[in-house]
This record gives sequence, C-alpha cells and structure tokens, in this order.
Amino acid sequence: MHEFSIVSSLMSIIEDYARRHNAKAVSKVVVGVGRLSGVEPDLLKIAFDTFKEKTICENAELVIEVENIAIRCRDCGRETDMGERLSRKCPHCGSLNTEIIRGQDMFLKSLEFEIDD
Ligand SMILES: [Zn+2]
Repeated sequence: MHEFSIVSSLMSIIEDYARRHNAKAVSKVVVGVGRLSGVEPDLLKIAFDTFKEKTICENAELVIEVENIAIRCRDCGRETDMGERLSRKCPHCGSLNTEIIRGQDMFLKSLEFEIDD
C-alpha cells in the first residue's frame, strides 16, 4: 500500500520537528491531501494509526484536509479554484495555457506538540 510509505516518511519529518522543539508528544497532525495526489484519505488514516504505535505520535489525532485543484493561467495570469474537477481550461479567458498550482501533493500543514517545561 502506497500510503504506508507516505506515512513512514511523514513520521520521520514529524519526529525531526518534535526533536527540534523538545516536544515529548505530538497531539495533532494536520495534513493536506490534494485531490490529484493519488492519496486515499481513508487508507492514509489506517496507515497512520498503524504506524503511530510506540512513536511520538502514539496519542496524536490525524486531521486530513482535502485540497481542491487550482490552476493558474499563463495568458491572463488569474488563479482559479477548480474544486474537485480537473480542467485545464481557464474559465476567465478560455485559454488552455495553464498550469496546476494546487491539488497534486500531500503535505504537512501543522503540528501540535506537548512540550515539557
Ligand atoms: Zn486565462
């Protein structure tokens, strides 16, 4: 399952952050999952819950925010949120000379730590 390798690298990023901030535990992990990322939110959750045992994330809650697709038009320069639907056509000027600027990746949005003081 693709999601297991994603969670595995996500965990090492989180552990790295936690170490740098002297956190003793992570309470919340928020990730953004693009609609075109190929990541299945349900599978991601299962993978996270499997991996988190005996890690700094053991009691962490995983929040998955699905990110819409957005494009930027190279002709008129406008950015458009396309929702769930992928279309490369700019709704403002009809150009097909566009690039996808959001919705293709999965990324870590925020973390909440418990810090010893
Ligand atoms: Zn345009």
